[in-house]
Amino acid sequence: MKTSPHLFKTRPFLRKKVWGGRRLEKLFGKQLEDDDSYGEAWEVADLKEGQCTVGSGPLEGLPLRALSKGWGRSLVGAGAPDDDRFPLLVKLLDANRDLSVQVHPGQEDARRMEGAHSKQESWLIVDADDTAEIICGLTDEVGPDEFRAAVDEGRVETLLNRIKVRVGDVIDINPGTIHAICSGVALLEIQEPSDTTYRVYDYDRPGMDGEPRELHVDQALEVATLGPCEQAVRRVGGSDEMLSVVSETPAYRIERIEVDQPCRLSWSVDPDSPQVLHLLDGSMVVEDGIGDQVELGAYDTAVVPAVLGSVRAEVPERCTVIVAGLAVEQLVRGLHRQIGQPVAS
Ligand code: ZN
Repeated sequence: MKTSPHLFKTRPFLRKKVWGGRRLEKLFGKQLEDDDSYGEAWEVADLKEGQCTVGSGPLEGLPLRALSKGWGRSLVGAGAPDDDRFPLLVKLLDANRDLSVQVHPGQEDARRMEGAHSKQESWLIVDADDTAEIICGLTDEVGPDEFRAAVDEGRVETLLNRIKVRVGDVIDINPGTIHAICSGVALLEIQEPSDTTYRVYDYDRPGMDGEPRELHVDQALEVATLGPCEQAVRRVGGSDEMLSVVSETPAYRIERIEVDQPCRLSWSVDPDSPQVLHLLDGSMVVEDGIGDQVELGAYDTAVVPAVLGSVRAEVPERCTVIVAGLAVEQLVRGLHRQIGQPVAS
């Protein structure tokens, strides 16, 4: 890779899903190729199952993999577990119908189970019907035999803990927690870059190919905590703080910047982590200080390589931006705001 690391916008990898709908286009402004049901926009993804591509600048169209390999630690930071794979997976997701009930392995599970990768995930609800719910954990503790019997007898739904959610709610799904996103929810999902999913229930419905999707009950029982979830739903926003912490997990950290008037922002970037910027609201023009800039509207995503050191942004009116990165002490350091109309350059 000849070009040196710079800021870039991403173009998502779009996935059709049996439970998907049309909100990726209607709400998030993603261009869908046909009239099918789409479930996921992989805004930042460097997996063999799918790659986002560069959506701006001289490298437009290149898969993220090429940058991870070419830029290495300059992109992913000194703290990344692997120097040639991007350490986060960020998706927008439209649950028009219920998603399968599933569980992911943790780091210890992944060491003993072949082909498994640890997966922690966090959900930030961005759209929700009045009756929207998620499933997190079980209502009571049950033994593995009892759980398996419930699966075999088609009554696993009676064991699941359902929680009502609203826009602005956040929940961390720890490895081992049985979970599902239910119909009527659209969310931003930030997670470890893994597609290791053990499905325990799929509502006895056919998949995209007309056949029922495979269940993985044995593997699920090896990793699942069969009881109530320890994580609670939290609300973000609503405070006067310009910068707030959305989530802190062993694998990644999520922060949020919210400003409600025209201004110029600047902050420092921890060299141990890249930053993923995802705009929830408003617009901003982000600059990396070495001549590259990208314009972000609602539900657009940009990646700031760890090596860049700092970021500046012009906010014409207002914006809410989610900043995701590795589990460093603080992602957005020394946030500075200069109020007033940005000077045209
Ligand atoms: Zn999951």
